[in-house]
Amino acid sequence: MSTDKKTLLVTGGSRGIGAAICRQANQAGYRVAVNYVSNQNAADKLVAELKAVGGDAFAVKGDVGNEADVLAMFEAVDRAFGRLDAFVNNAGIVDVKARVDEMSVARLERMMRINVVGSFLCAREAVKRMSTRHGGRGGAIVNLSSAAARLGSPGEYVDYAASKGAIDTMTIGLAREVVLEGIRVNAVSPGVTETEIHASGGQPDRVARMQDALPMKRAGTADEVASAVLYLMSDAASYVTGAILNVSGGR
Ligand code: NAP
Repeated sequence: MSTDKKTLLVTGGSRGIGAAICRQANQAGYRVAVNYVSNQNAADKLVAELKAVGGDAFAVKGDVGNEADVLAMFEAVDRAFGRLDAFVNNAGIVDVKARVDEMSVARLERMMRINVVGSFLCAREAVKRMSTRHGGRGGAIVNLSSAAARLGSPGEYVDYAASKGAIDTMTIGLAREVVLEGIRVNAVSPGVTETEIHASGGQPDRVARMQDALPMKRAGTADEVASAVLYLMSDAASYVTGAILNVSGGR
């Protein structure tokens, strides 16, 4: 496979929004590294699907909240592709519905470790590879935020909302930090999107329950979110950095 093709690493790329990003990037000609943390079957299935349509993809296991895993993941991409052009900080978790006055320190630390520290560690490794300051050829980073950062998610998961507020701030600060180093940094902020994340937070019926209250009377799809990510990664967005793009159907 030729090495002049652009490469992409997507954390949590095996399911949901991440998988839609991997599919669209594969279609657009990127070589794709698909990160996952535990569901190897889903990751292997997606990689097989991408390869079946002529893509060059591989799965890489690793917890973004674990520094050793993050280092190993980026080294695996170095070995497989030899370059990194685009990186998507997509892996993220919610937790079961709770009020702030019910939240344990273990819950709070897990939320911040995966959603915030994990995103910083991965952004750090991406910048080390892409920045012209480090001998790289530039690139694009896209972070997955959430409408929760604006809405606060009261009575549901204020901790999750706050972790995404941190992602918005990181997007703005990092974008300005590396603006002269060939890297654009942006965020996509989805509203309620149809994926398995709601079931993982103990609310499998969340989309069905909420859709009538949403401005478009429906949730978004993973593909609708992925399209915005692909745009921000692309040269069509060459003058866009530090942006937080709402893909929330008017919410
Ligand atoms: P999802 O369907 O639950 O998929 C999560 C993906 O992340 C899976 O590939 C999972 O891997 C991986 N993952 C989970 N924890 C990880 C960790 N510690 N390290 C590495 N990978 C990990 O999630 P989604 O709904 O697509 O959400 C993707 C992003 O969009 C998240 O940042 C989320 O906060 C954000 N978002 C989602 C919505 C929504 O309504 N769906 C709305 C706003 C924002 P395994 O398969 O191995 O478990």
